[in-house]
Amino acid sequence: MFTSINPATGAPGDSFAELTSDEIETCVQRAADAYKAWCATDYATRTALLEAIAEQFDANRQRLAEIAVREMGKTLKSALAEVEKCAVGFRHYAQEGPGMLASREFATSAGKATARWLPIGPVLAVMPWNFPYWQVVRFLAPTIMAGNVGLLKHASSVQGVGAAIEEMVIAAGAPVGLFQNLAIKSDKVDALIADDRIAAVTLTGSEGAGMKVAEAAGRALKKVVLELGGSDPFIVMPSADIDTAAKTAVTARIQNTGQSCICAKRMIVHADVYDAFLEKFSAGMQAVTAGDPMDPATDMGPLSSEEQRQTVLDQIAMIEREGGKLLFGGEKLPGKGAYMSAGILVDVPIDHAVAQEELFGPVAMLFKADDIDAAIALANDVPFGLGSSVWTNEPAERERFEREIEAGMTAVNQMLASSPEAPFGGIKRSGHGRELGPYGLHEFMNLKTVVG
Ligand code: NAP
Repeated sequence: MFTSINPATGAPGDSFAELTSDEIETCVQRAADAYKAWCATDYATRTALLEAIAEQFDANRQRLAEIAVREMGKTLKSALAEVEKCAVGFRHYAQEGPGMLASREFATSAGKATARWLPIGPVLAVMPWNFPYWQVVRFLAPTIMAGNVGLLKHASSVQGVGAAIEEMVIAAGAPVGLFQNLAIKSDKVDALIADDRIAAVTLTGSEGAGMKVAEAAGRALKKVVLELGGSDPFIVMPSADIDTAAKTAVTARIQNTGQSCICAKRMIVHADVYDAFLEKFSAGMQAVTAGDPMDPATDMGPLSSEEQRQTVLDQIAMIEREGGKLLFGGEKLPGKGAYMSAGILVDVPIDHAVAQEELFGPVAMLFKADDIDAAIALANDVPFGLGSSVWTNEPAERERFEREIEAGMTAVNQMLASSPEAPFGGIKRSGHGRELGPYGLHEFMNLKTVVG
């Protein structure tokens, strides 16, 4: 059984039975059968289903959001926004998908060649708990538009969300087997990847899970997309609007209680504006209060579990042992629930192993950089390369950041966020491949060249 624990109270929630081997087999065969019919559907059928799923998400917005709050502790406000974003994501692919799949022609010495986008088969998605709806939709909407079908292995802690997504897809009128939530543990994933009926796999999660899934995909010679962790830099230069930068830095660090892959985790501030930034940023972080995630006024809920909080506390303790200094916060809060306070670490030895890890909680690491070269060197001095946010009003600096920061994404004078229209993904140990936009749709398709 999977039983979710409400991280705000420690109380057990709904339980879900783990699928047996026979049930998994039935699901995989159902997916293979569904694919045979779905791959031959026209675009109008696919877009109509995407629109209908969007309507289900809208109609069930409150209930869906509350499931996520109970299972992983995000605030109701942010869960509602996440569900709304999912509807936008489905509609984006409904409206823009057919155009993204337009064929292209090339003149060759052998005559005309046409490149056509065709589906490839059932896609397995292994997904995390932090944005439990949106992460799934990032794979599911393009899967449906492509003519593929989907199987989901969701994180153990958010099985209620996995079941709810399946319910929405069925209620929208999807054919049997188009999308199935598999209530399974991660030890069943290797065999699924090896199964000939599964065409490809996508994973959003930690480096460790990414390595395991990539290894299994490599053995089976299957395409894999990996969306892994990050330790995103947030660079502030003297020409920036320091008030706005400091205010945005707080949100960028504490959103989802610091548990977003693209949270700004390392604030790198030019020496000329370091003190001014520190004063404003500290005031903002100290004003953050953790509270009941169901209360619409709450800024920050608990961490997703007691274990997740302990991991963050251990990382902070290790950084302190290595010479880092906790200016304030970063502590376990008394009472029930996996709550901790927002905090700031300074003097962090960047070359120490734990400073190179992803800090998945509401605590920022703050660094001083003497010039742009030092800022870029610090930004790139971690194994990750997911997102980044840079604050400058100097065009030459902006150009350097765009070219030299080793990341899949750079936001200028704003916080980084995903949007359905633009590609999302990382480099280095943050993974490979892209989700969203046309690139996310093309990842799991056969670009067939037809000559003649
Ligand atoms: P996780 O522990 O890696 O889990 C992610 C998923 O992988 C879960 O479904 C998990 O199942 C499964 N899994 C774990 N070990 C596995 C294995 N050996 N083989 C196959 N599947 C395995 O990550 P998480 O704690 O849920 O999520 C947080 C991480 O996700 C962070 O590192 C965050 O940065 C990253 N993330 C990245 C992005 C992005 O777009 N780049 C977006 C969001 C989150 P169980 O739950 O059953 O263990």
